[in-house]
Amino acid sequence: MPTNWKACAAALGALFVIGCAHVAAEDAIDAAQLMTDMTTLAADDMQGRGAGTPGGAAAARYIIGRLEAIGYAPQPAPFSYQTRDNRSASGVNIIARIEGRDSDPNGRVIVFTAHYDHLGVRDGEIHNGADDNASGVAALLAVAEALRKRPPQHDVIFVAFDAEEQGLRGARAFVADPPAAKERLALNINLDMVGRGDKGEIYIAGLAHYPQFAPVLKPLAERAPVKLLFGHDTPDWGQEDWTLQSDHAPFHQAGIPFVYFGVEGHADYHKPGDDAEKIDPTFFAGAVRTILMATRALDAAL
Ligand SMILES: [Zn+2]
Repeated sequence: MPTNWKACAAALGALFVIGCAHVAAEDAIDAAQLMTDMTTLAADDMQGRGAGTPGGAAAARYIIGRLEAIGYAPQPAPFSYQTRDNRSASGVNIIARIEGRDSDPNGRVIVFTAHYDHLGVRDGEIHNGADDNASGVAALLAVAEALRKRPPQHDVIFVAFDAEEQGLRGARAFVADPPAAKERLALNINLDMVGRGDKGEIYIAGLAHYPQFAPVLKPLAERAPVKLLFGHDTPDWGQEDWTLQSDHAPFHQAGIPFVYFGVEGHADYHKPGDDAEKIDPTFFAGAVRTILMATRALDAAL
């Protein structure tokens, strides 16, 4: 966005209006589709999308179908891991790529991620995980669609991760064996819980570690359609330091910068009540527009 935005801002009169309207139209979000994706993934028939369960597999099929409908060629990437109680288990990441306008075999790659698994059924209750993280996957699909309409500058790899709730297993498997040379992975943009607008605000975490992105992202707060805040990424946040708390952590630990989007915890976090009807469509669409603006800005600045 910034390149075009700057061009718009530098222009005058009719040129300003035409140029900016053009950019805005290209990056329109289909808010109804966004809600459909989120509610479908968070419906009871997905049984809480537990890793390795039929509900998880149904969610994976839905995501693959949606990516294909948008024009991608998604690939399932199975992996195995040992559970915390030492059982062998498996998961399936879903990977889709788009070539950048300046694509180059040695060029920088953005890895755009959201986990699709959730807690499954616990004590007989389905944990639908509407915010955590059907919202992030629906947002990923919306961004993937926008990038099909207007390709990014850099290559982008989209990944819907499995088994995040089991200890970031899908992300760890991806970083251990990425589908592009590790040196090329320049940035992870991770979404986890981007739908609940209880406070009307969303955070970007990661700038404390990667201050090079501050001049790119901080100005967006002035024109973001939701309240955009920064933080949750230093030890003085205590338990609320999110640096190692979602799928961006394995990237960070491998020396790959990350930018994470999420809302603060709420009463339904990891509870059966994290349901689709508690996602406010206006906030959610605004959060996704903010994420897309940030993605365009990061792509242009990288
Ligand atoms: Zn999550």
